[in-house]
Amino acid sequence: MIFSPDAKARLDICEACKHFRKTTRTCGTAIKGNKVGSKRLCGCFMDIKTTLKFATCPMSKWGALEMSKDDYLEIKELLSLTKDKISSEQQQAVRHYLEKYAGMRVKQSSCTPCVLNYLHKLKEIKVQYESNQGSSQG
Ligand code: SF4
Repeated sequence: MIFSPDAKARLDICEACKHFRKTTRTCGTAIKGNKVGSKRLCGCFMDIKTTLKFATCPMSKWGALEMSKDDYLEIKELLSLTKDKISSEQQQAVRHYLEKYAGMRVKQSSCTPCVLNYLHKLKEIKVQYESNQGSSQG
């Protein structure tokens, strides 16, 4: 499952945030978002966004309730190191992050299509995180 058990706690933070628009229930201006200093609010519908494990707050108000930058950097490095082959330790790390951010239970496997599928899913999580970050920059 890609749904976060922290959704309610995140939404509580959003609903108390000055950037939360009560009428549209979005982070800033719906869809487009608006600039706040050098950052841009995401414009997301927070009832949905808060449920996604890999989602982030553009103003970093969710604290430990979102993917850490360290995890993102480790996932990024892991994907760059596993383009041609993957060690059992790297496979273990892939399984760890898929469980943490996609709620997937992944078994150790020597099946190449399975491993490629796991890497593909991890890459999707990385891309989604980057797209969330991109929406917060001006
Ligand atoms: S995502 Fe962050 S900035 Fe946007 S409404 Fe929620 S707490 Fe506020």
